[in-house]
Amino acid sequence: MASTRNGPPNVTAPIRSGSTPVVIVWFRRDLRLDDNPALQAAARSGARILPVYIHAPDEERPWAPGGASRWWLHHSLTALDDSLQRYGGRLIVSTGDSLTTLLGLTEQTGAREIHWNRLYEPAAIERDSLVKRTLRDRGIAAHSHNAALLFEPWSVSTRDGRPYRVFTPFWKSCLQLGLPQDAGPPPASLTLASAESAALESLELLPRIPWDKGFREHWQPGEAGARNMLDTFLDTAAASYADGRDHPGTRSTSRVSPHLHFGELSPRRIVSMVQECLAIAGREGLVSGLEGFMRELGWREFSHHLLYHFPHTPQHSLDERFAHFPWDSGAREAVDAWRRGRTGIPLVDAGMRELWHTGWMHNRVRMVTASFLTKNLLIPWQEGAQWFWDTLLDADLANNTQGWQWTAGCGADAAPYFRVFNPVLQSRKFDPEGRYLRRWLPELGALPDRDLHAPWEAPPHTLQRAGLRLGQDYPQPIVDLAASRSRALSAYATIKQAE
Ligand code: FAD
Repeated sequence: MASTRNGPPNVTAPIRSGSTPVVIVWFRRDLRLDDNPALQAAARSGARILPVYIHAPDEERPWAPGGASRWWLHHSLTALDDSLQRYGGRLIVSTGDSLTTLLGLTEQTGAREIHWNRLYEPAAIERDSLVKRTLRDRGIAAHSHNAALLFEPWSVSTRDGRPYRVFTPFWKSCLQLGLPQDAGPPPASLTLASAESAALESLELLPRIPWDKGFREHWQPGEAGARNMLDTFLDTAAASYADGRDHPGTRSTSRVSPHLHFGELSPRRIVSMVQECLAIAGREGLVSGLEGFMRELGWREFSHHLLYHFPHTPQHSLDERFAHFPWDSGAREAVDAWRRGRTGIPLVDAGMRELWHTGWMHNRVRMVTASFLTKNLLIPWQEGAQWFWDTLLDADLANNTQGWQWTAGCGADAAPYFRVFNPVLQSRKFDPEGRYLRRWLPELGALPDRDLHAPWEAPPHTLQRAGLRLGQDYPQPIVDLAASRSRALSAYATIKQAE
């Protein structure tokens, strides 16, 4: 990433005059060398490879990457460039329209072949179809591959050929097809072509005000960070994952979600490493832990299946009755309190602060915070999804949409709407000693465990002893949990009656 300029990069080396042809690999969210089918196919051609990343956020609208995702993208591109340098080349970075940039590059390099790995978001599908058609019309061989999923959305269907809407039969079908384990290794050697490139900094992905300290403390974007995360999980938490995965105070899940989203780690690689792990040490705890872990990867597959077959769902509930749900969109102060972790409900606030500080939130707490927003506050799920989109490092259109609709009760195989998570009971059950709460809410730290989950119920002398003034050091609850639950159920009754 040598010099700064926009538009299609200029080729610096006299690529056309070389006898070996050039093949372009268009990197997108497959920022890895391991198990990368587009790269493997290009390498098999024996050509010199021009590795290109085109920054075109407008083409992803309305779901252009949010603030946290941009931070990750910057570091992930840096890591990919470092890896390519070990093969003697650089990542060519460009900005602007993808099709124009690719056409410009084919003209400059004489490349007649382009490879990329598929994406499944509606805007990406539309863009990629146009790119493929246009390139092929011009006689350029354009090939797309599967790098992101174990099963592409069209490869799994019900007996009568329809998409699945329920997870369990979907996953059963996948397991019957057999989990693919054929992850290809990184190429032993690559001959890379070079071209002038924009400086990564010119993409302005990093925040101007440095709010990313927590991100830097917790994450290492890039392929090496992804493998560290997975190895650590398999060596430590995997054996207790079956129970541990619900406890936010312990480090019991893999935290590979941002790595998976940016394609720094392939799901096929995960499956093959899990199989290896089981072959070496198939202890009972590990077997059930890893089965559970695979099942969660199955939810990721299911989410992509749903997004592909129901592309309107990032904006609209899959359950059409919810188009008439009486949301309370006007409760701005409550939304603000939710975003800032100032609702007065400890588990909700701890989750929202974890999210803001680290760019990630534990799955159980995602469900609790989403349930609180959509049910106790009656805020449309799309508003919460948008906030997560901007603040999560693993923000992923398929998983986020599915997670929000599942929790709000308006999606495929969703939790029934009347299941309103009680954040106090959830907190007592899954964080009984308050390890998670104390980490993110230090102002509550001196409360005894029994009062930590609902400080408003604590006797005045307990609050005094803990040095806590409710309403000053920590908010009073912004809603009454029981009353807001009843309000939610009444709201639901209005659309239920409309069936
Ligand atoms: P692990 O438990 O170790 O699971 C391994 C992998 O399986 C994850 O990395 C992820 O890719 C996948 N996975 C796990 N749980 C789910 C799930 N419920 N749905 C789909 N895939 C899953 N996940 C995202 O990756 N991006 C999102 O934007 C996102 N938004 C969510 C919003 C809400 C409201 C909810 C309830 C869940 C959301 N999830 C999202 C799913 C889940 O919370 C995260 O994938 C998980 O917490 C990531 O942590 P992990 O890697 O340690 O997961």
